[in-house]
Amino acid sequence: DLQNSQQMEMDINNDIERILYSSQEISERVKELASQITKDFDHKPSSFPVLVGVATGAFLFLADLVRKINLPITVDFVRVESYASGTVSNGKPIISSDLKCDVIGNHVILVEDIVDTGNTLSCLIAHLKTKGASSVSVCTFLDKPSRRKIDFELVGKGKYYCGFECPDEFVVGYGLDFAEMYRNLPFVGVLKPHIYK
Ligand code: 5GP
Ligand code: MG
Ligand code: MG
Repeated sequence: DLQNSQQMEMDINNDIERILYSSQEISERVKELASQITKDFDHKPSSFPVLVGVATGAFLFLADLVRKINLPITVDFVRVESYASGTVSNGKPIISSDLKCDVIGNHVILVEDIVDTGNTLSCLIAHLKTKGASSVSVCTFLDKPSRRKIDFELVGKGKYYCGFECPDEFVVGYGLDFAEMYRNLPFVGVLKPHIYK
């Protein structure tokens, strides 16, 4: 009936061609990353890390990650605009909302949803360096190494953590959007082409 078919059209799962990382795979990987971070930052008692989520994409990853890190940490956000509503970066990221915390002398871990060209990260790393962070690490949920245009450099003894190396496809879910939609999918998937074409 009509109500049923409207319900079907509202089901965002129908827009997904295939699932790349299931919610269980994600949670297992997040746990591993969190233990690695816990291990790596356990010896720096004078300054525990500040985890800086890049809004909006990293919100779920950050939320899951921090709950598995067994250290006193602080959490902050930064907002960067580099994407219009399409699927291709315009290459000039702008920090539209800065950190609330003062990170001078702190170990910062930038938490990203996905590293694509590297533009966003290199802009943020430079910014945190200027702000006097004593180290800048990156913890990204996904990485598309084949798409890299800029090789960013970590600051101090910063480390690079990556959840999954992702194929060169436009993915959504677990925080990642298309035109601000699909962030709430608990898994990562590839959109059906007719959605963005
Ligand atoms: P970069 O500056 O590295 O080119 O792009 C980083 C940002 O582009 C990410 O934080 C993310 O918001 C967006 N992005 C890159 N690839 C994808 C993708 O496959 N899916 C989605 N939803 N966003 C992407
Ligand atoms: Mg992002
Ligand atoms: Mg986006």
